Amino acid sequence: SGYHKVLEENRKLYNQVQDLKGSIRVYCRVRPFLPGQGSPSTVGSIDEGNITIVTPSKSGKEGQKTFSFNKVFGPSATQDEVFLDTQPLIRSVLDGYNVCIFAYGQTGSGKTYTMSGPKNMTEQTQGVNYRALGDLFKLAEQRKGTFIYDIAVQMIEIYNEQNGLNVPDASLVRVASTMDVMELMNVGQKNRAVGATALNDRSSRSHSCLTVHVQGRDLTSGTIFRGCMHLVDLAGSERVYKSEVTGERLKEAQHINKSLSALGDVIASLAQKNAHVPYRNSKLTQLLQDSLGGQAKTLMFVHISPESDAVGETISTLKFAERVSTVELGAARLNK
Ligand code: ADP
Repeated sequence: SGYHKVLEENRKLYNQVQDLKGSIRVYCRVRPFLPGQGSPSTVGSIDEGNITIVTPSKSGKEGQKTFSFNKVFGPSATQDEVFLDTQPLIRSVLDGYNVCIFAYGQTGSGKTYTMSGPKNMTEQTQGVNYRALGDLFKLAEQRKGTFIYDIAVQMIEIYNEQNGLNVPDASLVRVASTMDVMELMNVGQKNRAVGATALNDRSSRSHSCLTVHVQGRDLTSGTIFRGCMHLVDLAGSERVYKSEVTGERLKEAQHINKSLSALGDVIASLAQKNAHVPYRNSKLTQLLQDSLGGQAKTLMFVHISPESDAVGETISTLKFAERVSTVELGAARLNK
């Protein structure tokens, strides 16, 4: 019967949730070469959770570095495949868990593609955030006889640390369907594009966060519970050298640096189960505090570009990711 299906579904979810609780997972995604590009690839091989990067060396001889993660998605991985591996985490929000999903990587490496999708999006190319909301509505509908849910979303842009949370128009909006969410995100995108040039590539220098608040009521016991999920498209992680920029750009770069390293410190200290977790070192980590650590579940999508000119940023991105990862040391990593 329907009731038993819900019970069975809950049991499956419960087991998946127990697996994920308090854990930090890191997925690496390599974007394909873009049309018109075709320089040699820096990716040597991909094997389940291992990725080997070919590095140029001074003597002219190539070197190799292998990194291990929970999963590596190669250039041909579809949005469907990526979502499938993220779904259990997302669904646990309806059981009252807090979840944080980040996209990290240099500008142009595919963060927005993973989280939202490309500019001319089709159903196939929709990113994690559209699929996540769609899936939550679907699951909430399936559980209708047992639970009642209230879902609300909020879009926040963090630009330059000190302005932090004082974002105008960060209101909480109740949503009941994927259409509502699409509409809201379109408005958000348009607002972001207002003011043209000054904001033109500002999106790569701000953190953009879609927060989903869930309130559930268990119809049998009457118990009310809450879950929260942050879907974060982080600012570009590329290193900016002091000599290259001045004024406003330098200030932005310093803020990005500060917040990304604070995020790295928080996740690394959670992974090492340290007693003190330095949440207060940036506005970004303060905002996400409730959804990082404790019973919360964290997933970081680490993005890299395949072009060999990007190899410097790629190595530094993967080193950052490895620092925050709790993956057991595998053979591949030991011979690095
Ligand atoms: P970022 O958000 O890291 O700056 P984008 O998501 O904007 O990068 O990606 C840069 C370009 O590459 C965009 O044109 C995007 O559509 C394309 N792209 C990124 N990832 C993929 C992918 N997996 N498959 C196809 N195109 C991709």
